[in-house]
Amino acid sequence: MTEYEAVIGLEVHSQLLTRSKMFCSCRADYVQAQPNTRVCPVCLGMPGVLPVINRQAVEFVIMTGLALHSQIAEYTKFDRKNYPYPDLMKGYQISQYDEPICRGGYLEIEVDGQRKRIGMTRVHLEEDVAKLQHLTDPVTSDTYSLVDVNRSGIPLMEIVGEPELRSPEEARLYLVKLRAILQYLGVSTGNMEEGSFRCDANVSVRPRGSTQLLGKVEVKNMNSFRAVYRALQYEVERQVRMVKEGQRVPQETRGWVEERGETVAQRSKEYAHDYRYFPEPDLPPMVISREWVERIRERLPELPEARRERFMAHYGLPAYDAGLLTASRATADFFEATVGKAPREDEALRRRAKAASNWVLGDLTHLLHLHSIELEAAQVRPQHLAELLDLLDQGTIGTPQAKTVLEDMFATGKPPSLVVAEKGLAQISNTADIEPVVAEAIEKNQQAVQDYLKGKDAAVKFLVGQVMKATRGKANPSLVQDLIQKRLEAMRSN
Ligand code: ZN
Ligand code: MN
Repeated sequence: MTEYEAVIGLEVHSQLLTRSKMFCSCRADYVQAQPNTRVCPVCLGMPGVLPVINRQAVEFVIMTGLALHSQIAEYTKFDRKNYPYPDLMKGYQISQYDEPICRGGYLEIEVDGQRKRIGMTRVHLEEDVAKLQHLTDPVTSDTYSLVDVNRSGIPLMEIVGEPELRSPEEARLYLVKLRAILQYLGVSTGNMEEGSFRCDANVSVRPRGSTQLLGKVEVKNMNSFRAVYRALQYEVERQVRMVKEGQRVPQETRGWVEERGETVAQRSKEYAHDYRYFPEPDLPPMVISREWVERIRERLPELPEARRERFMAHYGLPAYDAGLLTASRATADFFEATVGKAPREDEALRRRAKAASNWVLGDLTHLLHLHSIELEAAQVRPQHLAELLDLLDQGTIGTPQAKTVLEDMFATGKPPSLVVAEKGLAQISNTADIEPVVAEAIEKNQQAVQDYLKGKDAAVKFLVGQVMKATRGKANPSLVQDLIQKRLEAMRSN
């Protein structure tokens, strides 16, 4: 792929974490609810009802716009987007057409160590639609569909990015960053598998260096970060192949089929005029005062970028650690809770921070992957990891034991001191208990002693190994080494 480049723009739909729906007072926590139990005449689309704007949803969109460096409109309005589909109760979706709440702005990703700004087109507010379930009768083989209206009217934020992404990897990085920002803001769960964070992509290719796009395809139905990456890779390759064969890439909507690993044509792409947009007559236009925007700006939480910088400055972490830890709010919170608020002098704080970072990004992340669970759902608590680090610092356990303890903590949620006691993992760290074993090891291994006296320092390692073996790994290795060295030195001076 040297002569063509990909031009990708992403459109993300993210459900907002409000308590009630966008235009009615139905509860918005519908995921665990029985079908059609979070409904009222408004979200059922009954004639004659009046919608009311959810103020919290508007605030969440403004927060997102501020985090993305967008301009926040002073004047904004809702519009009807008309299309017939069984998941759309009213026959139209209340959305925003020409006066979105946010315009412009950017988001930064890091590509091969270089910062790259991806422009934002707009962020607007709309409502989600009902959920259809397509079923087949086991007896008659008739197909039918059920409608669950619980999702209808959930506040939905649409975030449109400029087509400035040049590869599936850049698209993936953009999505990861955008999701992190929404999670830090607390406006969305960002859960792609559950459908609260959904992504469509516009994909084109063009000769490298040219501005002329060859066709434009919208790709839908990508339900995970991996699916986005694979679908885009497939689609870019497909278009390049067509162009090289002298074919025209038709403008159309294609769906990603995970099992087949390919995109398939769904319909010819629709245009804005197909939706017959017009201003929503049941809702007043909104004026967003600058004072309101400023009040929201003051309340903005620390965002991933700022937190990463702080992790480097305050904890002395390498950029690599800081970047990985702050990529998800849950991980960054876990790390900070582990390090703790207690003031430590600089050196001790940095040492503890690096140790915590190593355990979180290393063994803990490994266990999470192994069991495919999210950190939020794990049984290990930050105070337990902190306690584990204390046990290591005090020499109560060594690193191999600590790994065993973490695995147990992960499986059972028990505090480390309990695991150490139950499994008898504590190191032997008092001299009186180790001395006799050291004496015996020296007694039995005179050859090693002679080697040492002749200047072979490696002989000490051998003797330490003998003591560790005799104590079944429980002796504190650095204490053992000290004791052996002292005895050998005493023998030398005799
Ligand atoms: Zn309702
Ligand atoms: Mn939309």
